[in-house]
Amino acid sequence: MLLCCRNRWLSLGLAALVATGALGMGDARAAPSAAAFDTLFSHLDDDATVLSLEERRRQTVRLKALVPPGDVRRDLRYKMLSCVVDFEDMKAGFEYAKAALAQARQAGDRTAQIRLQYCEAGYRETVETPQTALAGYEAGLALAHASEDSRMVAEGLVLRGGIRSLLGDQALALLDFMQAQQRFDAGGYRHAADANLQNIAIAYRRMGQYDQALEYLKASRENSRKNKRWDFLVLDLLQLGFVYESLQQPDQALAMYREAEQLAKRHTWKYDLPAAHLGIAGALLMKRKYDEALRMTAQASREFTAIGDTSNYGMIELYYGQARAGLGQHAAALAHFDNAARDFEAGGNERYLALLYPERAASLEAVGRMQDAVDDTKRFLALREVLRKKMGDQRTMVLRYQFDAARRDDHNRRLEKESTLREQQVSALVGARRWQWIALGLGLLLIVTLGALVYRQVRRLRRLRALALTDELTGVANRRSIELFGEDALDEARQTGSALTALTVDIDRFKSINDTYGHATGDEALIRVARACQGTLRQFDRMGRVGGEEFLVLLPDTDLHAALPIAERLRRSAEALALDDLVPGLRITLSIGAAALKAEETDLGDLTRRADEALYRAKRLGRNRVEAGA
Ligand code: GH3
Ligand code: MG
Ligand code: MG
Repeated sequence: MLLCCRNRWLSLGLAALVATGALGMGDARAAPSAAAFDTLFSHLDDDATVLSLEERRRQTVRLKALVPPGDVRRDLRYKMLSCVVDFEDMKAGFEYAKAALAQARQAGDRTAQIRLQYCEAGYRETVETPQTALAGYEAGLALAHASEDSRMVAEGLVLRGGIRSLLGDQALALLDFMQAQQRFDAGGYRHAADANLQNIAIAYRRMGQYDQALEYLKASRENSRKNKRWDFLVLDLLQLGFVYESLQQPDQALAMYREAEQLAKRHTWKYDLPAAHLGIAGALLMKRKYDEALRMTAQASREFTAIGDTSNYGMIELYYGQARAGLGQHAAALAHFDNAARDFEAGGNERYLALLYPERAASLEAVGRMQDAVDDTKRFLALREVLRKKMGDQRTMVLRYQFDAARRDDHNRRLEKESTLREQQVSALVGARRWQWIALGLGLLLIVTLGALVYRQVRRLRRLRALALTDELTGVANRRSIELFGEDALDEARQTGSALTALTVDIDRFKSINDTYGHATGDEALIRVARACQGTLRQFDRMGRVGGEEFLVLLPDTDLHAALPIAERLRRSAEALALDDLVPGLRITLSIGAAALKAEETDLGDLTRRADEALYRAKRLGRNRVEAGA
C-alpha cells in the first residue's frame, strides 16, 4: 500500500544529476588537470545538464581521475558529487559521506560541507532514522543560509521537506517545497524546479488531497518524459501508483508500478526495482491476490536487503502480514504485524500505524485474542482522530499559506500597479517640467520681445519727443522749442545779468525760388540753409525755425557787439552754399536782424520784435545783410 520512497536526494536536485554526454565519454584514465576538472565539474553541477544516472556515474569516475594530486578543494568537489551517485550500498555510502564531511570540515570548505552534510543526512534516512536525517538536513540548511547560497538553501528545503513529509508534517513539508520552488524559479534552476513538482505532489498525497497530488504528478510525468529524465519518471510512476492505491483503484496502480518496474529493469536501477515490486505487492493485496503478493513482497525484501536499504522494513512486514492473513495464516500474520508495529512505533509513523492496527485487530480477532483486538481497534480509532485533526490542521495551514501567497501576489500586483502609476506620475512630472522649461523659454522670449517692444516704443517716444521739439523738415528746433529755450535763456540772463542776443533770419526772395524751381527744390534749399547756419553756431547757441523761411537764433551770454560777427558768419555761410546740384547757378542769401536784450525787457516777444524790425530794415536796405536793432 502506501510505501515509502527511495532517497530523494539521489534523484532530486542535489547535484542536478543529469543528460547527454556533451563532454565526451568518461575516461577514467584521463590525466589530472585542474582546468579539465573545473570544466567537467561545472558541467556536471549545472542545473541545465541532463545525464542519466549511469552516465553521471561514468563522468564522476572521470572527474576523479582529473583531480590534481594533493588538491584538497577539488578532491572535495569530486567527493560531493560522487557521494550522491556512486553508492548502491547505503551503509558504504554513509561511511563515505561521513569521512568526506569530516575532511570538508577540516579543510574549512563551506560549499563541500553543505553538500556533504546533505549527502550524509540522506544516507542517515535509510541507515539510521528520519529524525537523525532531519537533524543533518537542518545543519546543512543552517550552513547554506549562513553562506547565502540560495541554490543550496533550496536543495536543503527540498530535502527537509521530504523528511517532514515522511514524518507526517505535510503542511510544513509543503511550505519547504514551495519556498524551494520560489528559489529555484528565481535562480533559473528549471530542472530542479521541475523535479520539485513531485515533492509537492507527494505532500498533497500524504495530506489526502489526491486530486492535487494527481495534478502535480501528471505534470511532473510530462516534464520527465519531455526531458528524458527516466530516473524522475520512475518516481512519478511509483507515486502515481500510490495515489491510485489510495483512491482504491488497484488496476491503475498496478499499471503504474509495472511501467516503473520495466524502466527500473531497463536501467538496472537497484533501488527502483524493489520499490516497484513492493508497489506491485500492495496492489495485489488490494486485489486479494495473496499468493502473488507474498512472492512479490519477498522479492522486494530480498532486493532491498541486497542494497542495504532497511527503510521499508516495516512496510514489508505489514505486507507479509496482510498476505498471510489473507491466506488465513493469522498466527504468522501477527508475527509480521508485530514486527511492523515495532518499526512504525520506533519511527513514530502514525500514518503507517493507522494502516496496521485494523489489520492486526482482524487477525487478533481471528485467533481469539478479543481484548487485544479491541485495544488495537481503539488505538486505530484514536489515531484516526489524531490524523484527521492533523490533516485538517495541515490543510488549514496550507490553505492559509495559499491564501497568504495569493495575498502576497495581490500585494505584489498592487505594488506593481502603484509603481506603474508612480512611473506615470514621474513621466507626467518630467513632462510638466518640460512644459515648465518651455513656458520659461516662452516667458524669456516674451520678456525679450516685450523688451524689444519697450525699447522700440521708447525710441519712438524719443523720436516723437524729438519731433515735438524739432522742425520736421530742417531738423533745427521748432518754434515752440526755440521759444522755450528763449524764455529760459531770458530768465538766466536776467538772473545773472548776462547778455542775450536774438537774430531773426529770413531767406531773401524765397517765393521766387519756389515759383521758379518748384516747392521740392525750395524744401531742399531750406534744409541746406538751416544745416549750414547751424554749422556756424557755437555750442550754446540755438537756432529754431519760426516760420516758412524764417529762423530765430538765440545767442546766450552774447552782447550785440559779439553777436554781429556771428550773424555775419551766418549770412556768409548761406551765401557760400553751393546749390548747383539742385539748380545750376542757384544762390541763396539771408537778411538778418539782430537785437540784444535790454535790462528792462522781461518778454522774449519784445526782444524778437526789435530783431524783426532790424530784419525789415535789412530787407529795405537791399537784402543779404545784417542789421542791428536799437
Ligand atoms: P523777401 O522775404 O525777400 O521779401 O521775399 P520772399 O519771396 O521771401 O517773400 P515772402 O516772405 O513773402 O515769401 C515767403 C515765401 O516762402 C512764401 C512761400 O512760397 C515760401 N515758403 C514758405 N514756407 C515754405 C516752405 O516750407 N517750403 C517752400 N518751398 N517754400 C516756403
Ligand atoms: Mg519771409
Ligand atoms: Mg523771405
